[in-house]
Amino acid sequence: MLLEAGAIRECEEHGWMQDRADPHARERAMLVARQNPPVGISSDEAVAAIEDVLGSIGDACPECPPTE
Ligand SMILES: [Zn+2]
Repeated sequence: MLLEAGAIRECEEHGWMQDRADPHARERAMLVARQNPPVGISSDEAVAAIEDVLGSIGDACPECPPTE
């Protein structure tokens, strides 16, 4: 869901999820979660889950050399 909204991306080499730090993409993901939550969970729970994920992933792949 977050990938679809463009809020996060996946490292092409290692597959780590990376926060894109894009507030608009986050808003979009929240909106999608609220309007179209996965089967079996409420929209509130879906939003909370997204906040959890965004809070737990970094903005860079831990295995990639830092790019500056
Ligand atoms: Zn990587």
